[in-house]
Amino acid sequence: MLGVDEIAERLGSIGFCCRECGRCCQRVGEDSNLVLVGAAELREIMAATGMKREEIVEPYPEFIRAGNGGEYTLAWCLRRTLDACIFLKDGRCSIYEHRPWICRTYPFMLVDDDLIISECPGLGASISPSAARDAAADLCRRQAAEAEEEAEIREIFRETEIPPGKRVVIDSEGMKVLDG
Ligand code: SF4
Ligand code: SF4
Repeated sequence: MLGVDEIAERLGSIGFCCRECGRCCQRVGEDSNLVLVGAAELREIMAATGMKREEIVEPYPEFIRAGNGGEYTLAWCLRRTLDACIFLKDGRCSIYEHRPWICRTYPFMLVDDDLIISECPGLGASISPSAARDAAADLCRRQAAEAEEEAEIREIFRETEIPPGKRVVIDSEGMKVLDG
């Protein structure tokens, strides 16, 4: 795993400053703003907004066949309009303090020891050492949170039987059978 210092150094040489253009929240391609949220992140947004789960998220669209007529998917994503995330209001994030890790750390993500960089007009801008370190620490926290979520989902998946003929989402809190 990359450490905070090493990531901060890389971020310093890549450069980044968010221009608040909102492009990462907009739907410029089918999956361009697909924001996956873990169960804890979803709970936080529910508590902050008073919205119900189904108003905030939809199942990750790729379902896997269970072999008994049932299908499962292993993530939730924020709901989107045809143009953007439902929380983008007047060009600003309306749940900024509670936005998920993916949004907090865009345009970067860690996959094992790789730093993945997505398209963003803020890349290449100068970044202070302390901002680079804060961003690096967030990336490490995100990676740890995702690893924990994934381990819990794997555990639940091992203990769960997908009901025949049903579509379900398995997250780190259990299995949710979808209506319809
Ligand atoms: S992270 Fe990049 S794409 Fe997203 S609002 Fe900032 S500058 Fe725009
Ligand atoms: S939660 Fe906020 S930052 Fe994340 S995609 Fe939606 S509007 Fe953008």
